[in-house]
Amino acid sequence: MLDTHTDVVHREVYRFGTVQYSLLAAKTEGGYFGRWTCGACEGAGGSSVKDDSVGMAMLSAQASLVEHHRAKHGGDGAPLPAA
Ligand SMILES: [Zn+2]
Repeated sequence: MLDTHTDVVHREVYRFGTVQYSLLAAKTEGGYFGRWTCGACEGAGGSSVKDDSVGMAMLSAQASLVEHHRAKHGGDGAPLPAA
């Protein structure tokens, strides 16, 4: 979970089939990390290590999101930015 020493620097919404995910990147001491929350279940996750940039943090979160989606919602492929 986010603690008090982080600042959210970026937010995105992705749609993956019928499931919508909220992604964010936060800056913390030593780097950035990405988080996602699932709109269809109580799932949440994100990058397990700090990344050097917002973009890398978002990619890490997306990779984690894809695993969740395949495991819990039977999806395949890549997430699409929500319109
Ligand atoms: Zn889910």
